[in-house]
Amino acid sequence: MKVDELLQYDREHVWHPYDSMTNPLPVYPVRRAEGVYIELEDGRRLIDGMSSWWSAIHGYNHPLLNAAIEGQLKEMAHVMFGGFTHAPAVKLASRLLAMAPAGLDNVFFSDSGSVAVEVAMKMALQYWHARGREERRHFVTVRGGYHGDTWNAMSVCDPLTGMHSIFRATLPMHHFAPVPSPVFGEPCMQGDIAAFQECLRHNHTRVAAVILEPIVQGAGGMRFYSAEYLRKVYELCYMYDILLICDEIATGFWRTGKRWACDHAGVTPDIMCVGKALTGGYMGFAATLATSSVARTISSGVPGILMHGPTFTGNPLACAVANASLDALEEYNTVEERVKCIETQLREELSPLARLDQVADARVLGAIGAVEMKEPVDVAAVQAELVEKGVWARPFGKLIYVMPPYIITPGELHALTSAIMQVVVKHE
Ligand SMILES: *Cc1c(COP(=O)(O)O)cnc(C)c1O
Repeated sequence: MKVDELLQYDREHVWHPYDSMTNPLPVYPVRRAEGVYIELEDGRRLIDGMSSWWSAIHGYNHPLLNAAIEGQLKEMAHVMFGGFTHAPAVKLASRLLAMAPAGLDNVFFSDSGSVAVEVAMKMALQYWHARGREERRHFVTVRGGYHGDTWNAMSVCDPLTGMHSIFRATLPMHHFAPVPSPVFGEPCMQGDIAAFQECLRHNHTRVAAVILEPIVQGAGGMRFYSAEYLRKVYELCYMYDILLICDEIATGFWRTGKRWACDHAGVTPDIMCVGKALTGGYMGFAATLATSSVARTISSGVPGILMHGPTFTGNPLACAVANASLDALEEYNTVEERVKCIETQLREELSPLARLDQVADARVLGAIGAVEMKEPVDVAAVQAELVEKGVWARPFGKLIYVMPPYIITPGELHALTSAIMQVVVKHE
């Protein structure tokens, strides 16, 4: 198929994420990708600023990750996980639990982040069911969040900006506290947590769990909030005997500068979701981690089993490449240092943009840099300008943001930030 035929067929028949079938945004045909570069069919090479939605942390076509998949492929691509187990899954489980916040001792594997969130919410409901407290079936979250596109995950996304407002009437109703107001690095005063506390005080007898993204609200607006706020949420959950679910799907594996965003606040959630970067961006895969208290309580109740079992749970190829991604993380000298360098450079090169009239804010945390404009960005136009300058970023709403692969060099990162700077400057 020639490239123009491919594009034509794609335009007429293939649905892209959050897109129209009659008036779709333009798409760029990709031929291959290697390291930090994505190569288009016309030979243009783009520096990747997105890590393919937070996932390709080591870049593309990585020798270690390729070898892991190729090696595993010769043994078995897949085998059902009901009634079988295998070394790649057990090895991954033990490594994940060893690196997770202390107290998380059990893991359930699934195939996408949204499903990992569904599983987390089901765990919370089964926990209270097992304790004979079925009235505890609501969730509390904060506005501005994003937890995925499946039904229950949608129900705890921001009700307005969460892209799911047309489903509102059919979604289970939960409780929303305001967006955490103190930004990262600032203290959290009593007034900043009062509305959240009031929400728990008012509803706690009916609440199974609080679910939120720790420190970074990603797809809901790229906001970085105070670690003290998260610490207070943790303490309030403890006080009202409510489970805490932390969705680390975007933030895990050092994206925010620490191994987990929870580490900024020194909290261990009862249930934690990981995904996105888990396989270094090679395959859809995710995990839901739980404390032994949650796992034992579910197992002691009726029916005594966790009611979930996706066909591809524990997929060996995904486990093997996830193990290789963890190996690759160990090979940086160190990954903290790596992310720190990216953070310092992003801060130097993006922060000056905050002074421009058209810019509302420019903020950086770990290997995440976001420029928030005052007006919504024309995605297609800005994307085309960035591609013209040899970089890849996909704006949304008022945001032009980057979360590059950790292997990016200072020169490549500079090319990325200067392309963004030029686009922002032009965008008066
Ligand atoms: C991306 C994301 C999800 C959903 O993951 P999918 O793999 O897209 O289903 C859930 N929570 C957070 C915080 C995310 O960033």
